[in-house]
Amino acid sequence: MNKTKRAQEEEYTRQSLQKFFAKYPNEDACLREFPANCKACGTYNEKAFESSQRVFDCDNCSTKTWRTAGTIFHGLKYLLPTFALIWTHEDRAILSPYKLSRIFKIAYSTAWETDKKLHNLFEREMENFDTADMVTTAFNPVICKRSNFCTGGEHPDYFEENVQMDPDILDDLDEDQQAVCAALIVKPTGFDVLFEKAGIPIARFSAALGTLNLLGIVKQHLGNKYSLKKNPTVLSRSEKSLLEVFFEYIRNFHGISRKYLQQYVAAFWARYCRKRWSKGSLLKCCMTNAINGSQRVRCIHPGIVQIPFV
Ligand SMILES: [Zn+2]
Repeated sequence: MNKTKRAQEEEYTRQSLQKFFAKYPNEDACLREFPANCKACGTYNEKAFESSQRVFDCDNCSTKTWRTAGTIFHGLKYLLPTFALIWTHEDRAILSPYKLSRIFKIAYSTAWETDKKLHNLFEREMENFDTADMVTTAFNPVICKRSNFCTGGEHPDYFEENVQMDPDILDDLDEDQQAVCAALIVKPTGFDVLFEKAGIPIARFSAALGTLNLLGIVKQHLGNKYSLKKNPTVLSRSEKSLLEVFFEYIRNFHGISRKYLQQYVAAFWARYCRKRWSKGSLLKCCMTNAINGSQRVRCIHPGIVQIPFV
């Protein structure tokens, strides 16, 4: 990313934070977003709301209620940093954990945990979305940190050479396999539909599909459906330009490791997919979900990343 662009990005973040502090000048302002109703009987507790108490005893039934319970904010010493991160994210501004720790004078590790918690939330939300597989080599331009998958002394790209499909392999396919490939798309399609599209006898079709599966070119889904795994050679023009926007976004983080690629894809999705993430929806999602930073959402294949259909 060039200097002007970075300066613009920083200025945009500064303005976004300015608006944030106008709305949330202190901890109390954040706490006011949480309902002050008893979790047992629902009675509203005005005193708790007005005095910004995090925990109160119900006047009606005496039950103790923690207002942040069941949200990602529960157990946090300060609400402001997380609120700021959510705010800037919804504003599509960039606020790195490093900057977050500087602004709110919190430990870097705390800022990093906060960031990770949101990433985990995005990843979990993405699971409810329709996704396609993509080989991670497509992301090589922005991957420059070593991850645990790499062996010491080797280039970060090296480890996956065994798990990715060689783009040249498409040329090596026989006629039947090419016919099946032509029928496949990245969205899972039923066996029968594919068979009809491929236009070859059923035995040959099954054999070709099986081979493509073994070669790692197709992916099998539930309900006897198949999809084409994405790799740079099968990207459409709009997908390629979306990838460019993603690279631009990633460059703000000074290179990421392949291990965290999925999380960044999810964060990118949560930033740009307005269909799912309208203004205010992230805060709402954080208010109704409890997730902690150390929770891993799922274990993914190191060479494959899930891409949501936007
Ligand atoms: Zn009550």
